[in-house]
Amino acid sequence: MDIHEHQAKAILARFGVPVPRGGVAFTPEQAAHLFRTLGGEVCVVKAQVHSGGRGEAGGVKLCRSDAEVREFASGLLGTTLVTKQTGAAGKRIDRLWIEEASNIARELYLGFVLDRKSERIMIVASGHGGMEIEDLAEEDPESLIRMVIDPAVGLADYQARELAFRLGLSGQQVGQMVTALRACYRAYRDLDAMMVEINPLVVCDDGSIVALDAKMSFDTNALFRREEVASLRDPGQEDPRESFAHDHGLAYVGLDGDIGCIINGAGLAMASMDMIQLAGGAPANFLDIGGGASPERVCQAFRTVLSDPNVSVILVNIFAGINRCDWIANGVIQAYKEVGIEIPVVVRLSGTNVEAGRRIIRDSGLPIIGADTLSEAAHAAVAARPHTIAAE
Ligand code: GDP
Ligand code: MN
Repeated sequence: MDIHEHQAKAILARFGVPVPRGGVAFTPEQAAHLFRTLGGEVCVVKAQVHSGGRGEAGGVKLCRSDAEVREFASGLLGTTLVTKQTGAAGKRIDRLWIEEASNIARELYLGFVLDRKSERIMIVASGHGGMEIEDLAEEDPESLIRMVIDPAVGLADYQARELAFRLGLSGQQVGQMVTALRACYRAYRDLDAMMVEINPLVVCDDGSIVALDAKMSFDTNALFRREEVASLRDPGQEDPRESFAHDHGLAYVGLDGDIGCIINGAGLAMASMDMIQLAGGAPANFLDIGGGASPERVCQAFRTVLSDPNVSVILVNIFAGINRCDWIANGVIQAYKEVGIEIPVVVRLSGTNVEAGRRIIRDSGLPIIGADTLSEAAHAAVAARPHTIAAE
């Protein structure tokens, strides 16, 4: 899960990383007011979207008066910002971050990532900040410094000092850099982050070190135990279909066909896609309801699949291990009652409580097409499609 720059800055500041003073604005008036309260001659107005490359895309500007801030802010708020990273759809700008401007002497790159090879947190740094890491790796790979952190020891002071020296820092900056590095590491570790990136980390005219930009992303699987982090989620920055599925604990991917699929387990889902193709059909989606699916979750899965207007048949294929066929069956019936299903539904149940599940479906009196095997289910789904284009 990604968060906004201003949220990442607040977190990092709490752990001891120096960041510029600033505030969040949702309206041009608030933005102009922040310029006046900050009290400086220059401030930076920055679009808050979950993406880098905002500078190049016109989402960052140095402003010299409250009128200039107001004008720039009203041009940004409510629009979409298309950056190199967002794709053509872009991301909506709902809020801005207004901060005091810094006088930059040097720009550095600093990142903390999970290195899967060493199974450890790794620092990636470069004396050439400001550029995106991908471009840095391509254009100036020699400048990249990598340092792996031993989890039993944590980030050792000697490592942090060595990194500061290799970045060309000296004097009081070494101590400041060590403090910043340790703070980033603690924030990463204590909050189950997947990535901390400060690009650029700048050395100012007066010799101080400041995080001019900040990006953090978190392990979604750990959010249950990081309530504070979870509360920073901004659904406005997500794909609405994905958000809906995510909110209901479903893994959903939209595809081009017309057979809607509700399946448990990614492996069975993939096998079902193949069987559908083999039977001459095309899946409309890939939806994994996961293990231990309650009737409510099955019902939400129907809602998700039915929100795709291309869907003309639904195939439910469950091999219940942790799941229970009677729960799934009740979920299907609940979906008929609550969602209102007007297209054919094929259900294949197998595994835990299969007899109970089949009985519930049989006794419901609903026009559900039953199937015993995966192959049977796939053929039944293909056959059940309305043949309005049979003349072809
Ligand atoms: P990104 O483009 O999304 O990565 O956004 P950044 O926060 O990195 O800002 C983009 C660029 O704006 C930076 O690389 C700087 O060149 C410039 N910038 C941001 N804040 C300041 C500032 O306080 N002073 C100056 N002079 N430039 C700034
Ligand atoms: Mn940046």
